[in-house]
Amino acid sequence: MALRQYTALEQGSALNVIHWLQIRNLPTNPLRCAQCNNAMDVKEINDGHRCCGCRKKRSLRSNSLFKEFSRVLLGKLLLAIYFFSAEDSQREISRHLSLNPNLVSSIWRRLQDACSRDLRDRPITPFGGPGTVAKCDETEASVRLETCEVFGIVTTEYSLTRGYFEGVERRDVVTLLPIIARCVRIGTEVHSDDWADGSPYPFHPVTGIHTREVESCWNNLKLGQKKGRGIEREDMQSYLDEKMWRQWRAENPQNAMNNFLAVLAGQYFVNNPVL
Ligand SMILES: [Zn+2]
Repeated sequence: MALRQYTALEQGSALNVIHWLQIRNLPTNPLRCAQCNNAMDVKEINDGHRCCGCRKKRSLRSNSLFKEFSRVLLGKLLLAIYFFSAEDSQREISRHLSLNPNLVSSIWRRLQDACSRDLRDRPITPFGGPGTVAKCDETEASVRLETCEVFGIVTTEYSLTRGYFEGVERRDVVTLLPIIARCVRIGTEVHSDDWADGSPYPFHPVTGIHTREVESCWNNLKLGQKKGRGIEREDMQSYLDEKMWRQWRAENPQNAMNNFLAVLAGQYFVNNPVL
């Protein structure tokens, strides 16, 4: 679905949005009362439900991502998710949806958490193997009032390069070798600009091979642009996880949104009856 279809959905009836989300198992369908085990009907145009047994009113958002942002209409939250998956900036989302920047920042963080969790649930590492090339690199990224080191291993086995990135305290062999050991399969041809001495890996000098792809993979992290934006050091790994998720799971804008909705649906136990 394209942006104009999401926008049309958001501007249409609230019930349509609910049904659209329910088909994708984002809020549950139906919502069940834990006391009576009744399936509740959508009685109202918003997402409130009433149990026909105990008459208690509950929100369709129970157990879902949407619960935390109960003041924001579901259609708007759906659009926010769309903009996140399309990698629009928080500022643009705030402007498009007339939402407070702090609120957008909280939504954004929750979506980043979903990326981090997906990377834990379905790890992207190890990658490579015989016949593949991986390139290790480090860069300094600006975080608020200081810099931090980001270490990355980029594999060239896909048409669009992908990598693993981690904020590190130090860039010495003791720190970096275990990361490489975790990330690349045996037989991978590992290239690095430095510290090849004393390493158990068959390091190769960096040649011109794949240089452009590897650079574009790093540029894609937009670490240089973080300058002055005030990202906190403790938020750096969430930021890197989000970027990794995009590289591995959202190669193009069409599958980005679909994959992201599928990931969200898998992370919330929305079908549990509500108390
Ligand atoms: Zn009930």
